[in-house]
Amino acid sequence: MKEKERRAVRQIIAERVRLIPPSGIRRFFDLIASMEGIISLGVGEPDFPTPWVIAEAGIRALEKGFTSYTSNYGLLELREEIARYLERRFGVAYDPHAEILITAGVSEGLDLALRALVDPGDEVLIPDPSYVAYIPCTVFAGGVPVSIPTFPEDEFKLKASELERRISPRTKLLILNYPHNPTGTTLSLEDLLPIAELVEREGLLVISDEIYEKLTYDAEHICFSSLPGMRERTVLLGGFSKSYAMTGWRIGYAAAPAEIIEAMMRIHQYTMLCAPIIAQKAAIAALREGEEEAARMKEEFDRRRKLLVSGLNEIGLECFEPKGAFYAFPSIRKTPFTAMEFAERLLIEAKVVVVPGSAFGECGEGHVRVCYATSLTEIEEALERMYRFLRNIVGK
Ligand code: PLP
Repeated sequence: MKEKERRAVRQIIAERVRLIPPSGIRRFFDLIASMEGIISLGVGEPDFPTPWVIAEAGIRALEKGFTSYTSNYGLLELREEIARYLERRFGVAYDPHAEILITAGVSEGLDLALRALVDPGDEVLIPDPSYVAYIPCTVFAGGVPVSIPTFPEDEFKLKASELERRISPRTKLLILNYPHNPTGTTLSLEDLLPIAELVEREGLLVISDEIYEKLTYDAEHICFSSLPGMRERTVLLGGFSKSYAMTGWRIGYAAAPAEIIEAMMRIHQYTMLCAPIIAQKAAIAALREGEEEAARMKEEFDRRRKLLVSGLNEIGLECFEPKGAFYAFPSIRKTPFTAMEFAERLLIEAKVVVVPGSAFGECGEGHVRVCYATSLTEIEEALERMYRFLRNIVGK
């Protein structure tokens, strides 16, 4: 097809989709597909296979002929297991019959929550930098994303004062994410309470993406809906992708007041219908029998985190200690490059993949996301290559 024809076809695409730029991360993954000898600290997914006790439950489910649809809400057995987990871990109670919805990953939960809650023109507060899906999904839902800046001096923690300044009569909800992608920062009780107070005072709703809650190091994870008054205002999104190494299974959940879950389910039943039954069976096994394996993976991530963070600081890329997820977010401000230039040159000259912080929002400029969901040996080799790369820059 000629460029002119292509342009004409592009005009057919709905405007709200056309105006969303392609993901800054994708560009990198396309680039590396054609290169050899690469060490990737780019992709945000565990390098471990799904633990066998979980995978086996999926296989058994298939063997036993569990190949049908389930209830739109998901298997009651899984919803009950999730309710027990949330009560046990955070002391927050959800009714498995009406307040939990099983989704195809947190990705689907996010989309459903936004579409269920946002009317055209409603403003959605989104911390900057943030996970790449929040802005596009808000736009797809007809909402208006409003960026809330966060700063390296605060380790990119969201501040209630910054939020307050951007609240308008059209503000409907806030998207929270901690432990945080891309910075690895998490929020303590002290950080969260002023945010919760503001949410209450302004009558906001919250989508709290806590997919990395189990991957919290040297700190306690505080579930947002466990804070005073927040359960009724929060859609809690949880998942299996990261902590149980189940990215490909496409399974997650939303927990919220019954009316919100019912509204989300109304969209889900006509779009997804239900999450895959095999993945639901595997998720039951994850919660019942996967804890030991999840803890083992977390310990390994923690070892890598320590090695990576001290290594980055040693080679001159200043990096605060991330307390969660599997990302470090070092500053590259001492180099003459933008984050995009840095990442491109590092890829071409040192064959190491990191993601420019600017792919996650303007406030991510001057930083790169380094994912440590890869082996200690590879992290050591990547640090060595980065050191040589930086030395070359200084030498020029
Ligand atoms: N939320 C955050 C913050 C993420 O980092 C990711 C994946 O990288 C997701 C959601 C998507 O998770 P899922 O695989 O459950 O759809």
